[in-house]
Amino acid sequence: MNMTSAPAHIAIIGGGIAGLAAAHRLEELSREREVPLRCTVLEASDRVGGTIGTEQRDGFVLEYGPDSFISEKPWALDLCRRLGLEDDLIGTQDRFRTTFVVRHGRLEPLPEGFMLLAPTRLGSLVRSRLFSWPGKLRMGLDLVLPRGPQRDDESLGSFVRRRLGREALERVAQPLVGGIYTADPAELSLAATMPRFLQMERERRSLIYALWRAGRSRPQDAKGASGARWSLFVTLRNGMQQLVDTLVGRLSLGTIRCGSAVRSVQFHDTAWQIERRDGGRLQADGLILATPAFQTARILRSCDADLAERLAAISYSSAATVSLAYRRQDVPHTLNGFGFVVPRIENRAIIAGTFSSVKYLGRAPDGQVLLRAFVGGALQAELFDLDDDEMEDAVRREFAALLGIEAAPLFSLIARYPHSMPQYLVGHLERVAAIEQQVAAHPGLALAGSAYRGVGIADCVRSGEAAAQALLDQLSSVPLQANDSSSGSTLATDTRYMK
Ligand SMILES: Cc1cc2nc3c(=O)[nH]c(=O)nc-3n(C[C@H](O)[C@H](O)[C@H](O)COP(=O)(O)OP(=O)(O)OC[C@H]3O[C@@H](n4cnc5c(N)ncnc54)[C@H](O)[C@@H]3O)c2cc1C
Repeated sequence: MNMTSAPAHIAIIGGGIAGLAAAHRLEELSREREVPLRCTVLEASDRVGGTIGTEQRDGFVLEYGPDSFISEKPWALDLCRRLGLEDDLIGTQDRFRTTFVVRHGRLEPLPEGFMLLAPTRLGSLVRSRLFSWPGKLRMGLDLVLPRGPQRDDESLGSFVRRRLGREALERVAQPLVGGIYTADPAELSLAATMPRFLQMERERRSLIYALWRAGRSRPQDAKGASGARWSLFVTLRNGMQQLVDTLVGRLSLGTIRCGSAVRSVQFHDTAWQIERRDGGRLQADGLILATPAFQTARILRSCDADLAERLAAISYSSAATVSLAYRRQDVPHTLNGFGFVVPRIENRAIIAGTFSSVKYLGRAPDGQVLLRAFVGGALQAELFDLDDDEMEDAVRREFAALLGIEAAPLFSLIARYPHSMPQYLVGHLERVAAIEQQVAAHPGLALAGSAYRGVGIADCVRSGEAAAQALLDQLSSVPLQANDSSSGSTLATDTRYMK
C-alpha cells in the first residue's frame, strides 16, 4: 500500500471495548506517525460497547455487564488517562474490602491474605470458619509437598487439588477463579488464567511460601508503581459506559456503523473485501476482527477454513446479571463487604452477589442499596435459560436465604449475555499460538478481543491496541501480498503485553 496516496482504510469488525480501543489507538498512531488513515467500525448490534453497558435510573447507576476493571494491569487505566478520564475514576471503598464465601448457607469472610488460590496468613487461615480442620491442615501441606510433574499446562482444578486439597478447590478456587471465567475448574487452563501460580510452583515449590515472600517485597515495589494510588479495581463515576462514550467521542478519523453485521471477508489482490449480512460490501487495506471467536470463525471460514476451525474450537459460556434496588431498611444484612461468591457444592441458583452500592460510591441514592447477582456460567448453564420472572424469583429466593431480604425490590434489571465468556480450557495458549501463526499468513489481518489472551477489560484494551499497532506497522512498511507469511505477525503478539 502506498502511504503517500489516499489514506489507508482499516475496517474493524466488532464494536466492543477491544474494537473501540483498536480504533482509538489507530487514530493516535496516525497522528503520532503522521500517517493518513481512515477507519470504519462495523458493529452488528444497534449500539457499540459490546458487553459493556450502563443504565442510570432513579439515581441508581446500573451496570449490565462489567462493573469495573483491574488497575494492576495498566492498559485500561492508561487508556482512561489518555482520554482525560482520570478525574472520573473511582476506586473501591476499601474499608469494606471483605469478600464472603457461602458455606452451608452462611456468608463467611474469605480469610485475610487469601490470594485467589492460596492463603498467605496462616493465623487468619487457622481462625477462619470457612474450612474444616482437616481442610486447613491439607492446605498447610503445600509447605512441604514436592513439586508436581512439570507440565506446560494443567487444569486449575487438578493443580489446586494436588497442592492445597479438595476444600481449597471447592470452597475458594472454584467460586473465585471459576467465577471470573464462569468456567469449570476441571477444564480451565491454569497457564492461560493464572500462570503466576504455575511459575510459583516451578520456582519456589510451595505456593504459600512463594506468596508470603512476594508479599514481603510488595510494599517496597508498590511505592514506585504508578498504579499504586488506585485500589485493585476501579470504575468510572457514571459507570463503565462512560469509557465507551468517551472513546466514541474521540474517534475523528473513523465512522462507526451500527447494524452492520459482517458475513464474510476475502483478500483479493491488495485489499480485503468485506461482505455484510445485508449484502452491502466494503473494501479495506487492513482488517481487525474484534468479534467473539465463534463469530470470527464464521467470518473467516471462506477465507481460511483451517483457521476458522481452530477459532470455532474456543467454546463460550453464557451468564446473566440481575440487579435489584432496595430501600436500605429492607435489607437486614450489614452488607459489610464487596459481596460474596457461591461454591458450586452449595447448590444455589446464583454464582455470586455484589453489594454494588457498597463496593463503589454513587451507585445508589442515600437510603437505598443496589445489589447484583450473577446467574449461569459453565457449571449452571441450565439457569441461564430461566425466563426473566423465574430468574428474578430465583435470585430473590437466594437473597432471602443468604441476606435475609424478604421485601420486594424497588425495581430490577436483568442483562443476558449468551455465549459471552470464552472458556480458556487446558491447552488454550497452544491453540492461540497456532491461531496467531495462521493469522500472520494473511496480510493486513489482526484479531483482538477476549477470546485469546485475557478476558478482562484491561486485557481487551491491550489486545485491541496491540492489534492496531501491529497492523499499522505492517501497513506502513510492507506492500500487501496474499499469503505472504513473511510479512510479520499481524496478531497482538507483542510480548510486552503478555501475562
Ligand atoms: C456479565 C459479565 C460481567 C463481566 N464483568 C467484568 C468486570 O467486572 N471486569 C472486567 O474486566 N471484565 C468483565 N467481564 C469481561 C469483559 O466485559 C469482556 O471480556 C469484554 O468486555 C469483551 O470485550 P470484547 O470487545 O472482546 O467483546 P464484546 O464486548 O463481546 O464485543 C464484540 C462485539 O462484536 C459484535 N459482533 C459480533 N459479531 C459480529 C459480526 N458478525 N459483525 C459485526 N459485529 C459483530 C458484537 O455485537 C459486540 O458488540 C464481564 C463479562 C460479562 C459477560
